[in-house]
Amino acid sequence: MLKGFCMNQRKASITGKKVLVAGAGGFIGSHIARALYKNGNYVRAVDVKWDNFIKEPHFSKALTMDLRNFDNCKKATEGMDYVFNFAANMGGIGYITRQGANIMHDSSMINLNLLNCSVKNNIERFFYASSACVYPEHLQLESDVRPLKEADAYPAMPDTYYGWEKLYTERLCEAFSVDYGLKTRIARYHNIYGPESTFDGGREKAPSALCRKVALATNPGAIEVWGDGEQTRSFCYIDDCVNATLALASSSYEMPINVGSDRLVTINQLADMIIAISGKKIAKNHNTKGAQGVRGRNADISLIKEKLGWEPKVSLEKGLEKTYRWTSKEIIDRASPLQVKM
Ligand code: NAD
Repeated sequence: MLKGFCMNQRKASITGKKVLVAGAGGFIGSHIARALYKNGNYVRAVDVKWDNFIKEPHFSKALTMDLRNFDNCKKATEGMDYVFNFAANMGGIGYITRQGANIMHDSSMINLNLLNCSVKNNIERFFYASSACVYPEHLQLESDVRPLKEADAYPAMPDTYYGWEKLYTERLCEAFSVDYGLKTRIARYHNIYGPESTFDGGREKAPSALCRKVALATNPGAIEVWGDGEQTRSFCYIDDCVNATLALASSSYEMPINVGSDRLVTINQLADMIIAISGKKIAKNHNTKGAQGVRGRNADISLIKEKLGWEPKVSLEKGLEKTYRWTSKEIIDRASPLQVKM
């Protein structure tokens, strides 16, 4: 067995390693940092800003630095065994369809410098968080869409600059792997959601945004839903994402692989599920000018099932319930005068 890996029925975890989690101040990065820290790794958490949603200890040391900068990437990777890169200029559908140059510039700088410094600092493994946004637009024109498998990414025509940057960085990882022997692992995440995730400010994703809208709505009341609500997506709960990420990072599989769910729902259905969880009587007002992204997107997860024996375990109902409860409590806590005084 390779040093640092614990294998149990095709489940793998990483232990006793020194791990850099880049972007550990954000959603997925903070959850991965917590899992790695609990597994007995030394976790160096790096970010330019911190959401601070996770209250329990989840890293060994935190460094606040801008990873677009080469010297910062050199310091961040120094003395580490593994690098998990979640640092990116990103946001929900409104953000990634509005921003082009900043996303491509910032994330490219982070990825180029981190990969380069990982080679210089002899990093054993480099994990990269790619996205379902790499897939071509023409395969995502209908609500009732065919699930996307990994090979569908080519010939390439992502619908956003964000997706192009992700696809470019996948190839960058491959080039660093071929030319310098850096072992890279790449997950294409499909709509990861869950508690301890940003829910306002413009960078939040649809499940968290809808949880916030429902939590803030009067009873009876109404919420705004972007588009006609008949656009479709699949959603993957954060705990499932963490398990898949750790399994992939410790596996021998070297190509990009989908991490997601293959349960397709419309955004109207997603909103209705959250409304049902809240117990409120809430109508949906459709804003057809709101960003929708592609009309339909689903994940084919047969490859990850075959290669890693992984599939999502948490139902959308259960995951949304946890997300809604956490988001509404966070909103109440923020508004509480006691919290303001403390
Ligand atoms: P997030 O915005 O919560 O986390 C990204 C983190 O990167 C933030 O904390 C941000 O401050 C940090 N960052 C940005 N610029 C930085 C810089 N210059 N230096 C240092 N840190 C910087 O996003 P997330 O949802 O946790 O996503 C993590 C990764 O997974 C990203 O690469 C994202 O593109 C990818 N991804 C996420 C999803 C999803 O559904 N959440 C889907 C597909 C891909």
